Amino acid sequence: MNEIRVRFAPSPTGYLHIGSARTAYFNWLFARKEKGIFILRIEDTDVSRHQEEMIATILDSLKWLSFRWDEGPDIGGDYGPYRQSERNEYYHKYADILLNNKKAYRCFCTTEELEQRRKDYTKKGEFFSYDRKCLELDDEQIKDKLNKNMPFSIRMLSPENKAISFTDTVYGRIEVNSNNIDDFIIIRSNKLPTYNFSVVIDDYLMKITHVIRGEDHLSNTPKQLLIYDALNIKPPSFTHLPMILAKSGEKLSKRHGAISVEAYRDEGFLPEALKNYLSLLGWAFDEKTTIFSEKDIIKKFSLDTINKKAAKFDYDKLLNINGIYIKNHEVSDLAGIVRDRLKKRIPEMNESDLKSNGLKKTDLKDSAIIGKIFKEIEDKIIYMIPLVNKRARTLNEIEKMILPFFFEIIYPDEIKNFFKNKNVDAAELLKQSESVLSKIADNDFCLSQIEKGLRALAVTNNISFGGLAEVLRLALWGSTVGLPLFETIEILGRKKSLHRLSEYLELIL
Ligand code: GLU
Repeated sequence: MNEIRVRFAPSPTGYLHIGSARTAYFNWLFARKEKGIFILRIEDTDVSRHQEEMIATILDSLKWLSFRWDEGPDIGGDYGPYRQSERNEYYHKYADILLNNKKAYRCFCTTEELEQRRKDYTKKGEFFSYDRKCLELDDEQIKDKLNKNMPFSIRMLSPENKAISFTDTVYGRIEVNSNNIDDFIIIRSNKLPTYNFSVVIDDYLMKITHVIRGEDHLSNTPKQLLIYDALNIKPPSFTHLPMILAKSGEKLSKRHGAISVEAYRDEGFLPEALKNYLSLLGWAFDEKTTIFSEKDIIKKFSLDTINKKAAKFDYDKLLNINGIYIKNHEVSDLAGIVRDRLKKRIPEMNESDLKSNGLKKTDLKDSAIIGKIFKEIEDKIIYMIPLVNKRARTLNEIEKMILPFFFEIIYPDEIKNFFKNKNVDAAELLKQSESVLSKIADNDFCLSQIEKGLRALAVTNNISFGGLAEVLRLALWGSTVGLPLFETIEILGRKKSLHRLSEYLELIL
């Protein structure tokens, strides 16, 4: 049996779209499942774009998702180069074959001429497809124009009344009459190939056996088949993946949540969670399972079970899946991920970032201050993760929860009068709590001692522990929602905890 070879072929558009990531993933899954080869090819023939940075971003996102490719622009392979911008000689070689076999022809019509004819047709209420003006040119005329260095494009000669058909794995049998395919351009007048041509030549030369790509390319496939046919080469099999729409059924756009993989990474999604969710867009593990390991998907994945109904992108579902991955993630590993993110992000924070996180102004350019914060992160992060990993759905949410451990907090105005009309003497409770905590010796400042002391305090004051906890939470976090109280105090440490109690006391007195 021939080796299975698939490719992911992004155009450098600036970022990796979530839909393209799904295409990459399905190609990758199929390759792994079939023990085949997964190829990365960059379709960068559009010279107008600033390519290098965009390609780097796409490669970064693919690596972040751990889609290792077996052949590609950075690692090479037997069928390279893997960037279309470096493959022009191949496109011209095959365009010449088509010209020689009269399956394609040169077109000297200028854009202006074509535009004029298009207008004339439209006026008459007719649709303009290329009218084959240049097909009439005889060899002498062509030679003459070539001698004059007149620019030309190369067009396929679409055959008369020929049925072009293929069976798509997802969409079934598709048939198009060649009369409905115009003489489309394969090489532009700037000598660069069009997408439909370069993709066929590359898929052929790279020995691609299965093309798996978005449904938006379904209408291109008959044109590509025309080229395969004209070159007398065997086409690969085609699988077009269903569209990904927003939950509302609209086209997916930024309004519905981030659309680039990069943005999901920055929001704090774990790559495993994102991949798990992507695999559910157009495919199902079974009737009900939503969380599964990559190993299990690889075992179960099959192109035949891809659904043709458009997939709906459900941001909340992705968020929930991410939350489950965070909860189940090995604690020390997650601590490492969060630590590295914090170390990168904290120095980039400005005053307004700090403020929006409820944190006081801190000079983050001061290396001593940063050093202290980093040291505290190193020491404490491992203890914090178990407090937050069941509550957060993204790493950003985790960070928001733990940043107040390392900075001074800003008490929101509204909590100043929180206890005004309540039957709780918050000031008194704060004073007594201060006294309880300061009595615990430094080397004894641990969960059990803190809990014992504070519970006893609630009893002495004849109030519920919840009542006391509310006062303490406001003092320690500036908010009543928060992390487990005793653990928080233990991790904050005696000095910081006492500092916050007295700060809050001052505020409410
Ligand atoms: N370069 C095309 C794109 O980014 C993919 C082409 C293909 O897979 O055939 O949409």
